[in-house]
Amino acid sequence: MSTTDTTQEIQTVERTHVVVLGAGYAGAMAANRLRQNPDVDVTVVNPQPFFVQRIRLHQFVARTGEPQTGFDDVLGDGIDVVVDTATRIDAEARRVHLASGKHLDYDYLIYAIGSRHQLPDIPGASDHALSASDWTAAQRLRERLDALDAGAPVVVVGGGLTGVEIAGELAGRGFAVTLAGGGAVAPSVGERGYRATLRQLGRLGVDVLEDARVTAVEASRVTIETDGRERTLPSPATVFATGFTAPELAADSGLTTDGVGRLRTDVTLMSVDDDRIVGAGDATVAAGTSLRMSCQAAEPLGAQAADAVLARIAGDAPKPVDQAFVAQCTSIGRHAATLQFTRRDDSPARAVVTGRVAALAKEVVCRGTVWNIRREAAHPGAFSWLRGPEVTAEREPVLQ
Ligand SMILES: Cc1cc2nc3c(=O)[nH]c(=O)nc-3n(C[C@H](O)[C@H](O)[C@H](O)COP(=O)(O)OP(=O)(O)OC[C@H]3O[C@@H](n4cnc5c(N)ncnc54)[C@H](O)[C@@H]3O)c2cc1C
Repeated sequence: MSTTDTTQEIQTVERTHVVVLGAGYAGAMAANRLRQNPDVDVTVVNPQPFFVQRIRLHQFVARTGEPQTGFDDVLGDGIDVVVDTATRIDAEARRVHLASGKHLDYDYLIYAIGSRHQLPDIPGASDHALSASDWTAAQRLRERLDALDAGAPVVVVGGGLTGVEIAGELAGRGFAVTLAGGGAVAPSVGERGYRATLRQLGRLGVDVLEDARVTAVEASRVTIETDGRERTLPSPATVFATGFTAPELAADSGLTTDGVGRLRTDVTLMSVDDDRIVGAGDATVAAGTSLRMSCQAAEPLGAQAADAVLARIAGDAPKPVDQAFVAQCTSIGRHAATLQFTRRDDSPARAVVTGRVAALAKEVVCRGTVWNIRREAAHPGAFSWLRGPEVTAEREPVLQ
């Protein structure tokens, strides 16, 4: 609460404190957008003292790109940053407890803590699986890769778009990469995109074993099953890209989550348990939506989470989530990519661009994601996104 003394009257302005957990694509976008209302105080909590551009983590581990951007570059003036980790949300008290032992009280909470690697239930995985899925995991992987000889064998597990990106990047760096697809490679793109992806991986020397399933991991080798037979491959660094899961914070705080730990919200991104908690990004699943975990979805979700909070503060009804996908753009090394345009529901459309032009497009996309946040910092409310398809209660959420 603050008091403003004007010549004519004494005016009392209610201030609202919004705490944003996580300063990734969703959280940073939300924090900046909240500044449309000058009577809102925004505090962002994030474990790293900088913004991590997660979509460049495969470049970080291969030393071909830089994922860090200073908060002074992407967050608007007046936003408080607390470098810490939320450990528990006390919804009743409207309080967040932090790893440092401190706590923050809030009027509204935006839950945007992202996702991380989903560890598969495979013998040895908990000890030896590496990943590029989040900042901490990527640092560990980079250290391991740096210690290997040039041309060392590396097995990448998981044929989804993240696995393809990691395999391509590491092959471009000179490792002898095998991609164990687990049954499919790039399954979300159309036939032309799929063929182009395999061709581009082949040019980089990636050995694609589309059907290979990893059955055991050890420190310097993996066992795979392919064509009904088991084989052992040398792999002093085995990189898993077998899907994302959400952190336990929501579940540990007694909030309702889905099977992979995402905070369940209604169609306006409000937690189904508490009307002061609003979700955004990978860590959240809104009723009736089927949004792939992606920065493509996270930024519009962050903007809509902020809009929902601002509407509630203004006494208005928040709008249902309304956003669409445009494309799936997968880098394959530094000189090629597959740009698969999609329908609004993320299913592949006919148009596909490949090779160098697609690689350029991917670089524009990567820069664009940070540019969007920076622009929102300079002009709160400026970010816009593609709308639709209509939200219906029957649609099931999907993951990348
Ligand atoms: C190698 C790789 C390539 C990818 N490529 C693409 C791509 O091309 N296109 C695409 O759309 N998506 C891509 N993705 C997925 C994309 O990065 C994520 O979907 C996106 O980052 C989700 O955004 P977010 O804001 O929800 O979460 P994040 O960007 O993960 O941000 C969450 C933030 O919350 C912080 N945090 C975590 N726990 C806590 C806590 N307890 N308290 C406070 N803060 C916390 C994290 O440190 C992080 O800073 C890729 C992912 C990887 C790993």
